[in-house]
Amino acid sequence: MALDPDFKKWLEKRFKNKVKFNESMAGHTSFRVGGPADAYVLPERLEDLVELVNRSRQNGLPYTVIGGGTNLLVKDSGIRGIVICLAKCLKKITAKNAGNRSVMVTAMAGARTKALCRFAIDNGLKGMNFSLGIPGTVGGAIMMNAGTVYGSMDGVLDSINVLMPTGRIKKIKRENIDFSYRSVTWDEESRNSGGTSPIILEGCFRLYASDSTELKTEAEAILKIRKKRQPTSSYSAGCFFKNPESGKPAGQLIEMAGLKGKKIRRAQVSRQHANFIINRVDSSSGATAADILELMNMVQERVSKMFDIKLEPEVKIVGT
Ligand SMILES: Cc1cc2nc3c(=O)[nH]c(=O)nc-3n(C[C@H](O)[C@H](O)[C@H](O)COP(=O)(O)OP(=O)(O)OC[C@H]3O[C@@H](n4cnc5c(N)ncnc54)[C@H](O)[C@@H]3O)c2cc1C
Repeated sequence: MALDPDFKKWLEKRFKNKVKFNESMAGHTSFRVGGPADAYVLPERLEDLVELVNRSRQNGLPYTVIGGGTNLLVKDSGIRGIVICLAKCLKKITAKNAGNRSVMVTAMAGARTKALCRFAIDNGLKGMNFSLGIPGTVGGAIMMNAGTVYGSMDGVLDSINVLMPTGRIKKIKRENIDFSYRSVTWDEESRNSGGTSPIILEGCFRLYASDSTELKTEAEAILKIRKKRQPTSSYSAGCFFKNPESGKPAGQLIEMAGLKGKKIRRAQVSRQHANFIINRVDSSSGATAADILELMNMVQERVSKMFDIKLEPEVKIVGT
C-alpha cells in the first residue's frame, strides 16, 4: 500500500528528520535483515505518538510498534504502513514507596531493560536481576513476557499503561493481564482492535528493598554465565524457537537432530547455542530474511520428523 501523498507531507512536516521513507529495517533489528518500511518514525514525546496513532487511524494506515528490534525477523519485502520505533523516547524510570518494603518502579516503554536492571541494583531493589542481559526495551520485554531461567516479566509486573488504537490511554492491572510463555494479552477491547495492537507506554514493577552490593554480585554472576552460553556478539534475535511445554528444550532437540552449525548461505544454527540462528554478516554480504526462514523451516521439519515435536518460533516474524 503506497502512502497517501497528503499523509506523507503531514509526516514530513510533523516529524522532520525523525521520519524516514522506504527505510530498510536491517539497520533497526538485531538480526540485521529486513526490507523497507513505508515510513519509519521515531516520535520524541508522548504527544507525538498519540497524534501519530490518531492520524494513522484516520487515514486507515496500519502501524507496527517496535522497541529495540531484538526479537524481530522482518521479511525481505519489508513492512507496509508505518513503523513506530519507541527506542528513542519514553525513557523515564521512577520509583515510589509502596509499603511493606515494596517499591513501585515505573519504567516507560522506551527505556532499555538494561537501564531498568541498573536502576533496580543502584537503588537496592530486588526483582529485576532475572532479566539481566536481555537486550531491547521495557515495552518489548513486557509484550514478549521476556524471561530467563530465573524468572520473567509476569513475576514483577503490577500494571501497564497502554495507548489504544482509538487514541485512549488505559491502565491495565496485572489481574486483567493473561501472561503466558513469551506472550501477554489482555481484555477483549485490545484483542479486537482491528489488527492494530495497543502500544505499551509504561510498566509498573513491584520490587523489594534489598542490598545493592548483594544484587550487584548476583548480577555479575548471571551475566558471566549468559556470556559463556550464548553467542551474544553475533547478529541474532536471541532464542529462535519457544521451548516445548514439556520435555527437552528447543536447543537440545536441535542439537540432537544434528543441526548445530547447519548453514543456509549466511544463516547458521549457532555452534555455541543451537536455539540461536545467527546472521553471519561480513563486509561483503549477510543472510537475507529468506535464508533465515529457509533454515527455520529445515530445523522445524527435521525436529518434527525425528521427535514428532513442532517447534514454534519465539521470534516475531513481521512484514508482508
Ligand atoms: C542476544 C540476544 C539475547 C536474548 N535473550 C533473551 C532472553 O534471555 N530472554 C528473552 O525473553 N528474550 C531474549 N531475547 C529476545 C529479545 O531481546 C526480547 O524479547 C526483548 O525483550 C525484546 O525487546 P525489544 O524492545 O527489542 O522488542 P522488539 O523486538 O522491538 O519487539 C518485540 C515485539 O514486541 C512488540 N513491541 C515492542 N515494543 C512495544 C510496545 N511499546 N508496545 C506494544 N508492543 C511492542 C513488537 O511489535 C514485537 O511484536 C534476546 C535477543 C538477543 C538478540
